[in-house]
Amino acid sequence: MSLPRVTYTNLGEDFSGVHARLDAELEHLAAETLGRSHAASIGGQDVAGTETFSIASPIDRDIVLGRFAACDTATVDRAVAAARSGAAEWSALAWQERVARLRRAADLVEERKYPISAACLVEVGKSRMEAVGEVEEAIDLIRYYSGELERNNGYEAEGNKALPQERSWSRLRPYGVFAVIAPFNFPVALSIGMSTAALLGGNAVVFKPNEMSALTGRLLAECFLEAGLPAGAFNLVYGGAEVGKALAEHPGVDGIAFTGSNGVGMELLRRYTSGRAARPVLAEMGGKNSTFVAADADLDVAAAGVMRSAFGLQGQKCSALSKVYVASAVRAAFVEKLLAQMATIVIGDPRRADVYMGPVINDKAIARFEKAAADAARDGKLLAGGKRLTKGFMARGLFVEPTLVADLDADHAINREELFLPFMSLQEFTSLDAAIADANRDAYGLTSGIYTQSKATLETFLNTIQAGVLYANRATGATTGAWPGIQTFCGWKGSGTTGKGGLGSWYLPQFMREQSLTVFG
Ligand code: GLU
Repeated sequence: MSLPRVTYTNLGEDFSGVHARLDAELEHLAAETLGRSHAASIGGQDVAGTETFSIASPIDRDIVLGRFAACDTATVDRAVAAARSGAAEWSALAWQERVARLRRAADLVEERKYPISAACLVEVGKSRMEAVGEVEEAIDLIRYYSGELERNNGYEAEGNKALPQERSWSRLRPYGVFAVIAPFNFPVALSIGMSTAALLGGNAVVFKPNEMSALTGRLLAECFLEAGLPAGAFNLVYGGAEVGKALAEHPGVDGIAFTGSNGVGMELLRRYTSGRAARPVLAEMGGKNSTFVAADADLDVAAAGVMRSAFGLQGQKCSALSKVYVASAVRAAFVEKLLAQMATIVIGDPRRADVYMGPVINDKAIARFEKAAADAARDGKLLAGGKRLTKGFMARGLFVEPTLVADLDADHAINREELFLPFMSLQEFTSLDAAIADANRDAYGLTSGIYTQSKATLETFLNTIQAGVLYANRATGATTGAWPGIQTFCGWKGSGTTGKGGLGSWYLPQFMREQSLTVFG
C-alpha cells in the first residue's frame, strides 16, 4: 500500500491509511516494546550499563518507555576508542560505497517508519502528523545528503595545471570521529541528519540521544547498525549532561555536531573548539522567532499560519513562532481570527487521531510555563490560555493551554528569551521598519515570517530581517516545517554557528576538511 507523504503542506489529503498503520503500531508498541531494556552500542556490540535509567511518557507518567543503559565516562572512553578504529575502516571506503550503505539505512528507516513514529509519539508527546512527518523528514534527509555527495562527485575537484606534467586537485576528507549530541524535540530527524552528514563525510560517530528520547535513539541507531557500516563506525551512548560533557571534552573526538539550547551550544563553542587540534563545533541552537502581520495582510491566512507556527508540537521547535507583531489598524480583527483558530486546537492524548497539541516534555517545562503565565498576567494582557490542564486524563500527563499574551514591554523576558512552550506574545506596531528593528535586537536569528500583499513591504522584510530562514504568506506550517532540499535550516546570531544549516546543500562540507594535492609526473 502506498500512503501519502505527511509533509506540512498537504494536510488536505486523506490520511486514513496513515492512521490505520499508526493504530496498529501504537497497539504493538504497548504490547511488545514499552518497558523493555535497551543497551548502548559500542563497536557493534550491545553494552548493558552497570546502572539503568527509565523514562516516563509526558502523555501519562505511568507509561514507562523503557530502561536504558546509563553510561559513565569509562563507557564514553570505550565508545570513542571504538569509533577511532571504526573511522579508519569507514573512511577507507570509496564515497560511493558510503552512500550505498547510508541509502540502505534510509530504506530501513522507511520500512520501520510506523514503529519509529509510534515510539516517538509516545516518548515525546508528538501529534500523529508531527511524528510521521518527522520520520519522513529523516528518510528524505539521508537521501538528500547522499544525493549531495553524488552531485558533488564526492567533493573532489580538479584544479588548473601549472605545468603540463603536473596534476593539482582538491578533495574534502573526514576529520575522524564526530560526537553527535541530539535534542528531544526532533529526536529522529535531527539525530539522523547530523549523524548522516558526519558518516557521509567519512567520519565515525558517537551518538548521544537526549535522555528523554532514548527509545527513538535506540530505534534509529539500529537502522544505522544494520545498514552494513563497519563495527565502530556508529556508536550509541546514553546519558545526560555529564555524558555529553565527557564526550565533548574527549581528546579522541575531532568534531561535535550539536542541536539544542543556546546555553549549551555556546558553552560547547567556548570550551571545546579545540581538542588535540582546532575542531569544528557545529551548533544549531534556539530561536526567538517573530512574524509580522502587515495592515494589508490576508488575515485568515495569517491567523491560520500563526496558530500553526506557534502551537504545533506545543511550541517546542526552535523554529516555532513566539512573537507576533501586528499592525495597529488590523489588530482587533486579527486577534479575533487568531482566537478563533486557537479555539479549534484539540489538546489531549496524541495517540488519538484528532489531537493537535499533546503534552509538553517534562516538569521543568511545566514550571517554565507556570512562571511565564504568571508574569504575563501581571505584566501584560493575557488574551488566551495561561493554565495547566489537569482534568480527567490530562492529570496523568503534562498538558497546558496554548497561550497568547499582548502588550508586554518590548524588553520583557517573555519577548526576548526562548521559552520553548506553546506561548506567544503579541506586539502592536505602526511602523513596520521599527517592528523589524525591534525583532532584530533579539539575540537569536533563526526563522521569521511576514503576511502582506504588498511587494514593497515583502522586499523590505526580506532585506532587513536578521534571520536565516524566511517565510512569507504561508497558511500551513508558516515559520516551521523546513524540508530537506527545500528550506535550509540556517540560524544566524545566537541560533547557529555558521549560518550553513541542515537540510541544505552547504551543510555536508562542514563535516570534512579540505586537502589540496599536487602530483608531478
Ligand atoms: N526542522 C524543524 C522545523 O523547521 C525544526 C527543528 C528544530 O526545532 O530543531 O520546524
